[in-house]
Amino acid sequence: MRRLRRLSTYAGAFGRLRQAIADRAALSRASRAAAASGRKPEAAETIAALQSMLRALPDAALMVDEFGMLVAANSQAGDVLGDLKAGQSLSATSRRPELQAIIARAFDATDRVSFELTTRPPIERRMLGSATRIDGIGGTATSRHVLIVLQDNTERDALSRMRMEFVANASHELRTPLAALSGFIETLSGPARDDPGARDRFLAIMGEQAGRMSRLIDDLLLLSRVEMRAHLAPTGTVDLNDIVTDTARQLSEAAKKEGMSLIVEPSARPVRVTGDYDELLQAAYNLVHNAIKYGKAGGTVSLRTALDHDRAGGRARGRLIVADDGPGIPPEHIPRLTERFYRVNTADSRKKGGTGLGLAIVKHITTRHRGTIDIASDVGRGATFTLGFPATEG
Ligand code: ADP
Repeated sequence: MRRLRRLSTYAGAFGRLRQAIADRAALSRASRAAAASGRKPEAAETIAALQSMLRALPDAALMVDEFGMLVAANSQAGDVLGDLKAGQSLSATSRRPELQAIIARAFDATDRVSFELTTRPPIERRMLGSATRIDGIGGTATSRHVLIVLQDNTERDALSRMRMEFVANASHELRTPLAALSGFIETLSGPARDDPGARDRFLAIMGEQAGRMSRLIDDLLLLSRVEMRAHLAPTGTVDLNDIVTDTARQLSEAAKKEGMSLIVEPSARPVRVTGDYDELLQAAYNLVHNAIKYGKAGGTVSLRTALDHDRAGGRARGRLIVADDGPGIPPEHIPRLTERFYRVNTADSRKKGGTGLGLAIVKHITTRHRGTIDIASDVGRGATFTLGFPATEG
């Protein structure tokens, strides 16, 4: 362990040394190039200050002077634009010729020039760029530079696309039962007004549709509550054995209705993990409820816990395992099951009162608990869902 730490200290020192050599080389290249072009070079201290300033920025950033020479750049800029060398002209080193026109516009503008830059495969990224003219760097009133900052927006774009899709899906899911309710209200107040048989039938369907809407709203609220707490690590200590016995108590009636046996096998010893009791109970409930919904009528659902010691000396893990002997899940669906509103068979899920959010809720709860979900299935023989969490010490 100590040896490892010493090695990483050496690696750190070596990295800093390499950076210092690169900076020194860049500095001398910058001043040589400036001298060759007949302009007054930036003082070495100015370039060094600019370089450390750009290095401190979280986004890709570079600065060019009015001769198009790269004065300073951070490593993120190199990742986006290719191997940048301070002291060389940007057009010669960068893979992005369109930057020249943007820089020219920025030199003529008083305000910041905004632009977009997309990188090509293998890593496609959408960058939001700004080019701003900065005058008087290095205390010289006539010196003019342009600072370019490139912010990677790829993840933010994907997130907002996901949010939009989610809102569209949720509205669609709510609109379907709402449309059914409106239709029946119209029929009951018109043609079926005096037909007691139709009225009873329609009222029963309306009750089902209202139930579907309320389950969906409950799940949406649950999901957003878990999401809101995603950044707060849980602090309590929970014995997974208590979770499985509690879940079995809550769902034994539902299992009995389907003629299913619910078998609970808690580990002989406590399986303690750091967690929020209600959330872990919710996750186990959703998994067992699914096993009852999608398992084999008259079959078996088993609910177990285990404490696995890591042989490599790492941290032990507590596991909660829910298995059924139903039709299982074809392998192509497994990677997408925890996505919101993803179902193997939407009609079947709706018929069984599903919302398509149960496993998304389980995933969010597990992630908040720094845990893992493992889904295994033998088509025709059943499905097994395993949640794993780091066990508490001692
Ligand atoms: P739903 O509300 O539809 O049950 P979930 O997110 O809980 O939504 O589950 C997503 C889908 O995963 C279900 O619609 C079903 O197709 C599939 N699924 C979940 N659990 C099982 C299981 N034990 N056996 C077979 N399929 C399952």
